[in-house]
Amino acid sequence: MSQRRIGAFICECGGNISDHVDVKRVAEVIEGEPDVAVAKVAMFTCSDATQQEIIETIQEEKLDGIVVASCSPKLHLETFRAMASRAGLNRFLYNQVNIREQCSWAHTHQREGATAKAIRLVRAGIARTRAGRSLETIRVQTLPRVMVIGAGVAGLRAALSLDSLGIEVLLVERSERPGGHIASWGPLFPNNRSGEELISELLDQLHRRSGIQLYTGAEVVERAGAVGDFSVTLRLGDGGDVKRFHVGAIVVATGFSPYEPAAQELGWGLPGVLTLEELRRTLDGAEEGRPILLCMSTAWVVGRHLEPRMGTITAPVSAVARRCTPPCWPTSRTPTCVSTTCIETFAPMGSRSCSWRRPWGEAPSL
Ligand SMILES: Cc1cc2nc3c(=O)[nH]c(=O)nc-3n(C[C@H](O)[C@H](O)[C@H](O)COP(=O)(O)OP(=O)(O)OC[C@H]3O[C@@H](n4cnc5c(N)ncnc54)[C@H](O)[C@@H]3O)c2cc1C
Ligand code: SF4
Repeated sequence: MSQRRIGAFICECGGNISDHVDVKRVAEVIEGEPDVAVAKVAMFTCSDATQQEIIETIQEEKLDGIVVASCSPKLHLETFRAMASRAGLNRFLYNQVNIREQCSWAHTHQREGATAKAIRLVRAGIARTRAGRSLETIRVQTLPRVMVIGAGVAGLRAALSLDSLGIEVLLVERSERPGGHIASWGPLFPNNRSGEELISELLDQLHRRSGIQLYTGAEVVERAGAVGDFSVTLRLGDGGDVKRFHVGAIVVATGFSPYEPAAQELGWGLPGVLTLEELRRTLDGAEEGRPILLCMSTAWVVGRHLEPRMGTITAPVSAVARRCTPPCWPTSRTPTCVSTTCIETFAPMGSRSCSWRRPWGEAPSL
């Protein structure tokens, strides 16, 4: 195989990357990789001045492929593809490696580990560039029909939006009842609208649209084809009838499964130990006007300490297992805490006939 001349450009992003990743070390290691002719560090790779420097390097060093290790391709893939073109390089011989969102921002307290990960990511980008070849863009006909898989709130909204654009929609729901998790929930954060009402409103809208076909009790069993023309086989109902559809695109909106602790984890399995989702259902079913008090040890909600509360209870809630993470008591949040699920669950309580009224004040907007 002939020798390639690949250039690697490692971005500091003005400290966003270099504060947590040793970018000079990344460049030193990558410079020693097979087929790498140049490895450089830049403060702001997307700046006009740096792009011009990279163009000059491509031409002077006769590079036949480049990798920029920087932010998400969502932000700058096109920027650097255009830069490659201006340098006379096929735009598809450029590859972007994300060492910001997927590395420095994700590992802010582990410089060594983040640096090692960045090196591996850039190596993978080099390997991809090495295997790449010049490509020309082509146009493909796209079927104006989209399959949305999952009819929870996300799938329903996606279907309605696509229909508003004049695109035919096949909405596929595995269960017999559309709406997903929130379909049976009461008030939701942040506007206290009932989940049940929200879903029935969306279903009303959906039934008025002739461009959306809803298949419940249906599941995808096979998919073939490519963007623009996918062939998708559905199993319809318990009878097991299968039917094939052609669609131009697929939206996957299959939602989430609540975290279920292992036996004994946080007292899971003991009476009165609930997940947040179970707590929601308990609260939703609670009598209006009757006090609801949680007997929790401690919890952090929006960074504030909630005092333990005891008293009359609708259901004996002795501890709440968070869906997103192991518990963050007694004093700090774990690094994996997503900081929203507990807010979403507790915030609507403040507006109920409940003795526990937003002890942390107004809930912030997400
Ligand atoms: C305890 C708790 C409290 C929350 N409180 C709030 C709140 O107050 N406010 C708020 O905005 N958000 C809240 N959330 C978040 C909210 O519930 C979710 O963001 C929302 O339900 C996600 O909707 P979804 O449509 O993506 O997923 P889901 O509701 O999970 O729906 C997914 C759908 O896809 C279907 N499906 C799955 N797999 C397949 C398949 N293979 N084929 C076909 N269909 C499939 C499922 O049957 C389901 O109907 C809370 C979450 C939790 C856990
Ligand atoms: S290329 Fe991306 S990572 Fe680099 S400076 Fe620009 S925004 Fe930041």
